[in-house]
Amino acid sequence: LTFLGLESSCDDTAAAVIRHRKGEAPEILANVVAGQEALHAAFGGVVPEIAARAHAERMDIAVEEALSASGLGLSDLDGIAVTAGPGLIGGVLAAVMCAKGLSAATGLPLVGVNHLAGHALTPRLTDGLSYPYLMLLVSGGHCQFLRVDGPESFRRLGGTIDDAPGEAFDKTAKLLGLPQPGGPNVEREAALGDPKRFVFPRPLLDRPGCDMSFSGLKTALLRARDAVIAEKGGLTVQDRRDLCAGFQLAVAAVLREKSRRALAECPDVTAFAVAGGVAANQRIRGELTALADQAGVPFVAPPLRLCTDNAAMIAWAGIERFREGHQDGLDLSARPRWPLDQNAPAMLGSGK
Ligand code: ATP
Ligand code: FE
Repeated sequence: LTFLGLESSCDDTAAAVIRHRKGEAPEILANVVAGQEALHAAFGGVVPEIAARAHAERMDIAVEEALSASGLGLSDLDGIAVTAGPGLIGGVLAAVMCAKGLSAATGLPLVGVNHLAGHALTPRLTDGLSYPYLMLLVSGGHCQFLRVDGPESFRRLGGTIDDAPGEAFDKTAKLLGLPQPGGPNVEREAALGDPKRFVFPRPLLDRPGCDMSFSGLKTALLRARDAVIAEKGGLTVQDRRDLCAGFQLAVAAVLREKSRRALAECPDVTAFAVAGGVAANQRIRGELTALADQAGVPFVAPPLRLCTDNAAMIAWAGIERFREGHQDGLDLSARPRWPLDQNAPAMLGSGK
């Protein structure tokens, strides 16, 4: 099967082509991602109106680029997959309308995909994982454990009840005067710092289950920073490094312990996979690798360009859903909210 995938639920306009022949590894024939950082930079966050307009202007260009990079035409495709939510509704609509137009014009099957399912199924695209596996999605907008039993079957074991870790990294950078995005910059400083000088709280470790909280960390960081400033009149380079190191260690420790519990809840999984921008963090990755080793399951982290928002994961999820017999009509609707696990409570603080 060969699918075109479209994605526009946040601030990336993306189109990709995936080909999968049964029994062979899937091939990414094209993976076009047009980011919008420059458009939103001046506003300190994604502005929904600006994002929606930019997606509408760029979606068909991304599709043309993806098709030309793949060397295929529309007639070579078997279907069109599109993110139908969750996300900024104006943005989601851009790809949904484009996909419907293409489907109506060509007669190709249309498959609506949950953006989070795209992330959660990525380790099957990149590493050929078999079901069931445990997934930790950890990014600027999300933090949750999912047990993945099939392309339509997800169980949420827990997640953040407030901020996502990426958000906490970004706020930490802001409080310490480091540039955005915070994650990579905090990591760089932390590598040169003493993680034991400032001890930050490890929220919810005293409670059972896999829920997490990261909003208290930034308050603790603010307090520690202000205590140093009150004492010395300012922050030295080393103070900043030590604060970053203490903060990063606290996040890593919470993720490790909660991952241990999530793995203990599903002893039958074939692997432990992580995705999302925060999975790029070497310290966090190290903790999670060590933990998976201990539990005796392989640790899998797809390459970063497939961990952050992209359309290859949407095309792949579309192929998987289509194989399960799923197809949508031209009445497919865009959904601002769409929990993966219909039985889970509303995803507090999940960002979407
Ligand atoms: P989502 O797509 O889930 O809505 P997002 O677009 O913010 O959220 P990603 O692009 O997956 O998510 O990840 C970006 C986040 O990852 C940012 O918050 C960034 O600070 C964080 N991040 C990136 N690299 C690192 C790193 N090395 N260490 C820690 N955090 C990092
Ligand atoms: Fe995403």
